[in-house]
Amino acid sequence: MNDLKESWKETGKGLGNAFKGLGKSIIKSADAVVDKAEDWAHADDTKEQTAQPHTAPQEDDAWICPQCGARAMKKFCPECGTQKPE
Ligand SMILES: [Zn+2]
Repeated sequence: MNDLKESWKETGKGLGNAFKGLGKSIIKSADAVVDKAEDWAHADDTKEQTAQPHTAPQEDDAWICPQCGARAMKKFCPECGTQKPE
């Protein structure tokens, strides 16, 4: 009886180690897949972000007057009245 018990213990041990190794390699490949998915998700995010600058504030319309160097927001320079260059 004891012999059977001992051999079962050894078998179980070996089986456990085998599963342990298998689990490790499965986790490793799962990690690789997750990394790929992360790359994909982040690539998609940046794509959406670059497609949105249409909603940027009017601050983008600001221009520097070539005549006096003033910062203008409208069609004409607030300092010297020069028209915004196209
Ligand atoms: Zn000016």
